[in-house]
Amino acid sequence: MKEMLNERGYKATPARLAILDIFSKSKFPINAEIVYKNISKIKALRKTNEATIYRTLLSLESCGILKRINLRKNSAYFELADDHHHHIVCTKCNEIEDFENSELEKILGGIVVKSSKFKNVREHSLELFGLCRMCA
Ligand SMILES: [Zn+2]
Ligand SMILES: [Zn+2]
Repeated sequence: MKEMLNERGYKATPARLAILDIFSKSKFPINAEIVYKNISKIKALRKTNEATIYRTLLSLESCGILKRINLRKNSAYFELADDHHHHIVCTKCNEIEDFENSELEKILGGIVVKSSKFKNVREHSLELFGLCRMCA
């Protein structure tokens, strides 16, 4: 994590390292509020406020360490940008499942070939919304 920050010209401050640690332990995308709850449990960092955490999340996003996921909620959710995958999201509770599909990646990769306006596509995001087995 330290190298990841340094490579991108960011100082590995205790707050940044703690935030990245929370992300590396989280199985699902999380928002500033959840990061804040975890950070406030750390004695040395408990004075960090939610606005500072949000700013840190944005800077970690702009340097490409975190990725913002559109879960159609009121707050922004992020996850580590290290491995490419998609999500299925329950619109009733907070259940989220990751999925990957190589066929889908192939299809999405071929879309731009047929485009009259676009030369290349750098990235994509895809989230599926529905009800989980508990809510359906
Ligand atoms: Zn659900
Ligand atoms: Zn994909």
